[in-house]
Amino acid sequence: MVSEADLPDGDVTVAVSHSTVNYKDGLAITGKAPVVRSYPMIPGIDLVGTVIDSGHSGFSPGDQVILNGWGLGETRWGGYAQKARVKGEWLVRLPAAFSPEQAMAIGTAGYTAMLCVLRLEDSGVTPGSGPVLVTGASGGVGGVAVAILARLGHEIIALTGRPDESNYLKGLGASEIMSRAEYLGAPKPLARERWAGVVDTVGATVLANALAACRYGATVAACGLAGGMALSTSVAPFILRNVTLAGVDSVYAPQALRRRAWDRLAQDLDPAALQSMTEVIGLGDVVAAAGRIVEGKVRGRLVVRVDG
Ligand code: NDP
Repeated sequence: MVSEADLPDGDVTVAVSHSTVNYKDGLAITGKAPVVRSYPMIPGIDLVGTVIDSGHSGFSPGDQVILNGWGLGETRWGGYAQKARVKGEWLVRLPAAFSPEQAMAIGTAGYTAMLCVLRLEDSGVTPGSGPVLVTGASGGVGGVAVAILARLGHEIIALTGRPDESNYLKGLGASEIMSRAEYLGAPKPLARERWAGVVDTVGATVLANALAACRYGATVAACGLAGGMALSTSVAPFILRNVTLAGVDSVYAPQALRRRAWDRLAQDLDPAALQSMTEVIGLGDVVAAAGRIVEGKVRGRLVVRVDG
């Protein structure tokens, strides 16, 4: 049992209503990777809730806030508890467009998907540039990326290891489904030019194959490692096709970029698409869900009802 007096230092106390299960939460809870850096730890890398006490000039009791990353669930106690004490400088106001549940349906996965979209846009990828590949498409980051990019008018090819999710992915806006198996072999230095942009959540061989099939001037937003950390590739796509491999980190992204991402989510993510990819679970279901997500068996997003 943890009491309020045990909460870590911080200038804002939040009554948490919802958190989520992201892939990183799955790694932390199953212990499959050393995500948790100190014990005891309350996992949960994100949360939404209402400020109940604040010594920070930007927030007052009653404000609804979102927190993604900043070490929550890794080095700082996270979202799987009814109360969290955090630093006000980490908080983003809940956009008026979203209920707390919708904000966590998006969660860190969806906010990262938007960071990837912004990375492609900032590199000049437009709907007219050509097809965009989204890998790990049935997962959380992948699903939100498909929905946003399709709504913005991009032609989306969804790469998945779950062909039975084809109808779901087409419902989110994918024009074509590609089997993960096509990208599991060793890549050639260059393949036929296909992708104007890539949102990659998988890494490893899938990312290497995607890079080799990039069009001249393409950008690859790489945010994930669901298929592995290693990356064996050649410099050919970079020096012969002017391809950019752009890393995306959500945990320590600066506040201005976070606010930009949340504003764009409010504008460009169809609430119906979000609903179609979301399952709500209770705190007692989190351990089982963690096992499912690291096995690649979760479709879309898992919201955790913390106060229910
Ligand atoms: P999910 O588990 O929801 O999605 C990952 C998807 O990757 C799965 O649904 C599956 O999609 C695919 N996949 C799973 N296992 C494998 C495998 N062995 N080989 C190839 N593909 C696989 O996770 P999230 O969407 O929450 O996160 C995706 C990745 O992005 C994770 O690695 C996560 O750590 C990372 N991430 C990084 C962030 C950052 O700040 N850089 C922030 C958020 C997430 P399918 O069945 O369709 O193939």
